[in-house]
Amino acid sequence: MSIVENTTTILQEIPQHVQLVAVSKTKTNEEIMQAYDAGQRVFGENKIQDMTRKQEELPKDIQWHMIGHVQSNKVKYMAPYVDLIHGVDSLKLLKEIDKQATKNNRIIPCLLQIHIAQEDNKFGFSAEECQQAIEMSKEFPHVHIKGLMGMASYTEGQKQIAQEFAGLKNLYDQLIQQNHRLETLSMGMSGDYPLAIAQGSNMIRVGSKIFGPRNY
Ligand SMILES: *Cc1c(COP(=O)(O)O)cnc(C)c1O
Repeated sequence: MSIVENTTTILQEIPQHVQLVAVSKTKTNEEIMQAYDAGQRVFGENKIQDMTRKQEELPKDIQWHMIGHVQSNKVKYMAPYVDLIHGVDSLKLLKEIDKQATKNNRIIPCLLQIHIAQEDNKFGFSAEECQQAIEMSKEFPHVHIKGLMGMASYTEGQKQIAQEFAGLKNLYDQLIQQNHRLETLSMGMSGDYPLAIAQGSNMIRVGSKIFGPRNY
């Protein structure tokens, strides 16, 4: 299957309310343009240098999402153009995003990354810290907390993955009930996005199922 076919298939199979982020990390401009030709306009990268280079070289109607872990000192490089930052996991980072967004006269949309996996090697806020971060973010007018992002455990256990996604959806719903205006729940990757959508995801981040395996 080609990149064009893979992209088309996924776009056709997911519900209308679910946005596809094509994760193009390590992939070339040519590969990205094949997904672009299938109609895809939202791409996710996890390295700031790669994302900025691709943003400069590729069509300007592409929206670039930062999906990786972000170091505060790198925020300035993406602040002029980034469409959504998925992995916000500290107040220090929120503060820096606010500062750089202000310099660029922008409001930058962000997702708070929530730690839902059993493994402790994944980044993110706990549910409680997330509540605090949302309260604190009122002091950062150039940051727009648009929703939550999470990654399930790296396991074959479908039941465990479903439970982790359900937990995140539950937190998301709770925050909405408390009148926080969230609209994006980013969960699901190549291996688990159907499960994530079934649990309420409305944004999936899919790499290898579009572009094939990555050789680092
Ligand atoms: C690489 C990556 C993905 C995509 O992974 P695939 O399994 O190739 O779909 C999604 N989310 C994040 C945060 C990633 O780093």
